[in-house]
Amino acid sequence: MEQTPVAHVLIFPFPAQGHVNSMLKLAELLCFSGLYVTFLNTKHYHKRLLRFTDAETRFESFPKFRFQTITDGLPDDHSRSVSYIKDLITGIESVQPAFRELMISNNLNSDNWPPVTCTIIDGLIAFFMDVSKELGIPSISFRTTSACYLWSCFCYQNLTEAGEFPFADNDMDKLISCVPGMQGFLRRRDLPSFYRIKELNDPFLKLAVTQTINSTRASATILNTFEDLEGPILSEMRPHFPKIYTLGPLHAHLSSRRTNSFAPSDSSNSLWEVDRSCMTWLDSQPLKSVVYVSFGSIALMTRNEMLEFWHGLVNSGKRFLWVIRPDSVKDNDQKSQIPTELTEGTKDRGYMVGWCPQEQVLVHPAVGGFLTHSGWNSTLESIIAGLPMVCWPVMGDQQINSRFVSQVWKIGLDMKDVCDRLTVEKMVNDLMENKRDELARSMDEISQMAKKSVSEGGTSWCNLEELIEDIKSMKLQV
Ligand code: UDP
Repeated sequence: MEQTPVAHVLIFPFPAQGHVNSMLKLAELLCFSGLYVTFLNTKHYHKRLLRFTDAETRFESFPKFRFQTITDGLPDDHSRSVSYIKDLITGIESVQPAFRELMISNNLNSDNWPPVTCTIIDGLIAFFMDVSKELGIPSISFRTTSACYLWSCFCYQNLTEAGEFPFADNDMDKLISCVPGMQGFLRRRDLPSFYRIKELNDPFLKLAVTQTINSTRASATILNTFEDLEGPILSEMRPHFPKIYTLGPLHAHLSSRRTNSFAPSDSSNSLWEVDRSCMTWLDSQPLKSVVYVSFGSIALMTRNEMLEFWHGLVNSGKRFLWVIRPDSVKDNDQKSQIPTELTEGTKDRGYMVGWCPQEQVLVHPAVGGFLTHSGWNSTLESIIAGLPMVCWPVMGDQQINSRFVSQVWKIGLDMKDVCDRLTVEKMVNDLMENKRDELARSMDEISQMAKKSVSEGGTSWCNLEELIEDIKSMKLQV
């Protein structure tokens, strides 16, 4: 009789904060079920993970878990700064032979570990699935983005055939009619940022579209979302995708399984040094009085945009905690003076850090709103914390996430494509005062649904159980 092999999953994220973070959470969730799990990290990111987090000790409690590393295809002296995101992509594309080598070497089966029976590959690097398939190992695609983003990438052909892309003129408010499920509210400016280009050969557009279509060749797709949030879009997607497991919000799912609560743990998967001094500052601020400002791990802004935000925040008269990553301002001339009214206004009511423990900041009682770039992890973390948002999307999926936040879920305000001090001031005041109650009402509802989905019996909870059973019954196709 044919025997089902012992299940051993290999997880491989794209080397970026949002990707490593959510896929490590998935790894931990799979560890609870007793599966063998290998987490494949690029050497550079792994070094940072070991340096800035407790990941190594945290996973020591799972004897069937281990990290493995692989090159990211870049020379050792490359800065890997977010300004060179194109290099990160080209680098990782060149790693396919090394990945193949690792998969066929005995390294993964050493110390009596069973052979890999399933790979979970980040959909942004879906080309690694080809190696997995060639070796007869079933492959599942994991997407770190929202379903609405994936669906809008998948509909690329609809857009070109209908003549809606490339845009015929500069009217960015023109409605898009051929993305099923989004008619009536999706404008050109809300499409993922790649659609703004005039050049069809643009590498980011090609990557986003090709990898989304390639993901459909996987045995299944895992999404960090939940049915009650993106159900209508998921229904549009399901006929075109293999089985979709919605498991999110993953960070809350993990806390729910780990401690039966939604309180974030002290652990993090940060690839930067976490400055915890802001927690002490927050402790001395009044209830719900602080706007938390962060644009994630990749987004860049110009010095002028930074100054407009700064003026707007100071002029709003609200307290603010602002994460400014040292590499996030494009043309920062350290020598030019910061206007005195900004430094004074910040001394009175503001606090700035280079990187903070975001999940903990969002649930701190002093925080009342989130000015965000609408990265998908940040959006889900805000939903679990029940915090309404002002969205200033910069790139990729952020443009469409912010449209859903403001127009569909009504849990935030969209400030897309505008960056002047008057608008920032008005938006912050709307968030914290004028529109606070109406936003809070819809946010409470969605936040409750999110928590229910990752609690025992909820949709994400049950989908994870199903995924684990499916992985256990997978057979190598050799
Ligand atoms: N984050 C953090 N500290 C910070 C800023 C961000 O821990 O000071 C985390 C945040 O909690 C989230 C991730 O970094 O999990 C950012 O992911 P997201 O998808 O929101 O945006 P990206 O960085 O991919 O643009």
